[in-house]
Amino acid sequence: MLGLIEAVELRLISMPLVHPFETSFMRETDKDCILVRALGSGLEGWGEVVAMPEPLYNEETIATCWHMLVDFLIPKTLRRAWKDPGEWAQAMRPLRRNYMAKAGLEGALWDLYSQVQGKSLAQLWGGRRSRVPVGVSLGIEASMPELLAQVEQAVEAGYRRIKLKIKPTWDVAVVREVRRLYPQIQLQVDANSAYTLDDVEVFRAMEDLDLLLIEQPLAHDDIIDHATLQGQLATAICLDESIHSRDDCRKALQLQACRIINIKPGRVGGFCESLRIHELCQSHGVPVWCGGMLETGVGRLQNLALASLDGFTLPGDLSASARYFREDIIDPPVTLESDGCVVVPTHVGLGGRLDLSRVEHYCQKMELIAK
Ligand SMILES: [Mg+2]
Repeated sequence: MLGLIEAVELRLISMPLVHPFETSFMRETDKDCILVRALGSGLEGWGEVVAMPEPLYNEETIATCWHMLVDFLIPKTLRRAWKDPGEWAQAMRPLRRNYMAKAGLEGALWDLYSQVQGKSLAQLWGGRRSRVPVGVSLGIEASMPELLAQVEQAVEAGYRRIKLKIKPTWDVAVVREVRRLYPQIQLQVDANSAYTLDDVEVFRAMEDLDLLLIEQPLAHDDIIDHATLQGQLATAICLDESIHSRDDCRKALQLQACRIINIKPGRVGGFCESLRIHELCQSHGVPVWCGGMLETGVGRLQNLALASLDGFTLPGDLSASARYFREDIIDPPVTLESDGCVVVPTHVGLGGRLDLSRVEHYCQKMELIAK
């Protein structure tokens, strides 16, 4: 039993990134997010809302999530006792979309539920692996030498897989050069929807580079054009932005729009939906991997528990804390093992210790919503 949720606190956090992160749609120098703290049964649970300040990855923003949480999701949560986070997620379905807002609160409820049950998140979700292979996502740089320095640093740190962000003018030649210098490394690219079907030659030109996958080459809301593109490529397409639910995933697989799915709990409304997508993909023999939204330690630990499930056969975007932050808000931070893996948390709840003084240090705004 999850029980009665007595109050929920929201905190707007802003932490400097150690290195700016640029994708085809934006450049980030700070990590801003909302931390959700749910209080009930004398316990507290934490979750992270991964929405960005601007609606450039999806339609949500930190402000829209704050609004959804304060005005709709939290009031609906405080009115009753809950059996488990699954029952809660089902009850929030009438509130359309707003997946990142939902996922942040659901994460806090999972933390609480894990403590009540005395089981780690990985145990609750059926994860069997104690360590998971991880990769890094490398943003677009001002020049090739700057990117190559990043790649070298990541490879030296022990990462098994490199993902390169691409956009028109920063694609085939860049990927080809990285492949030339690192013929053995697992390599994949992510376009974040920067191309159209007119660009099929760009992807054909990468067919000989032994890429694990091409992530979200076409529009963020498309499945049909991706099916057309996948039909013309031997390299697997992986969908990220286009998949918001198990149903989206079912349709994409049915249309053969991709052969791999990136699961991000924030994008699909939480861990309950992530588990459903994982199960569907497993039943179709489709590999999945855990994507990232530059999470703080809170979201990172929870994603690690998810990535311990059997279907997560490809390395996740679950780098060590130090790759993004000088000091994470969890202590100890997430670290990379010498074999390119990260250890899955075994503690109940969040799976690690939150450093409240650091949370307060980075906190810009706080609001308590009680019954
Ligand atoms: Mg992506």
